Amino acid sequence: DIPVITIDGPTASGKGTLADQVAHALGYVILDSGSLYRACALAAHRGEVDLDDGEAVAAVGANLNLSFKNGHVWLDEEDISEDLRREATGLMASQVAAHPAVRAALNQLQLDFRRLPGLVADGRDMGTDVFPDAGLKVFLTASAATRAERRHKQLISKGISANIEGLRQDLEARDARDKNRAASPLHPAADAKMLDNSAQSIEESTQRVLAWWAQTRPF
Ligand code: C5P
Repeated sequence: DIPVITIDGPTASGKGTLADQVAHALGYVILDSGSLYRACALAAHRGEVDLDDGEAVAAVGANLNLSFKNGHVWLDEEDISEDLRREATGLMASQVAAHPAVRAALNQLQLDFRRLPGLVADGRDMGTDVFPDAGLKVFLTASAATRAERRHKQLISKGISANIEGLRQDLEARDARDKNRAASPLHPAADAKMLDNSAQSIEESTQRVLAWWAQTRPF
C-alpha cells in the first residue's frame, strides 16, 4: 500500500504550499491536481474546444501530454507553467471541472501519481473522491480576506499588479462554483481533519500535519 496524504480546500487557502512542505519533509511525491484541471482547460481553449462541451473537453483531458519537472509543467514540448498560474486559467479550470466526464478522465491520471515512498495530493476532492482510502485527509480553510491578501502578495512579488477586492470577488466566485456543482462539490470528507490556517504560519501548519501523520503511523 502506498501511503497517501490528501489536502483539500478552497481557492488560495495555501494547499499548494502546505502540500509542498509536507511532501518535502517526508520525501514524498506531490500531486497538484488543480494543475491538471488548469492544463486541461488551457489545452481545450487553445484547441478551440467549447469549454461547455464536457465530452469534447474530456477527450482533450484523456490525451494530455503533460510532464512535470522541477516545479514546472510542460504540455507537449512547451513550458506552460506561467500560463497555468493565471487567474483566467483558474476560472476556465473551474468551468471544465464541473463536467463529470472531465473529472472521470482526469481521475485516472491522478491515480497514476501514486508512487513509493508516498504521495501528497492537493485539490478539492482528493480525500472525498480520488483517494478515499488516504491515511490522512486534511481540509484546509482560511478566511476569504486572508486568501485574497495572500494571492495579492504573491502577484505583487512577481511584479504583477492586482486589485485585492477584485481578487477576493474572483476567488469567492470560484469557491461558489466549486461548492455548488453537481459533480464532486467541494466539501470535507467525513474523516477529514479540519485546519484553519488564517492565523498560522506555513511552518505551524506543516508541523500540525506532520504530527497528525505521525499519529496514524505509530511505528
Ligand atoms: O487549485 P487550483 O486553483 O489550481 O484549481 C483550479 C480549479 O480546478 C478549481 O477552482 C476547481 O474548480 C478545479 N479543481 C477541481 N478538483 C481538484 C482540483 C481543482 O475541481 N481536485
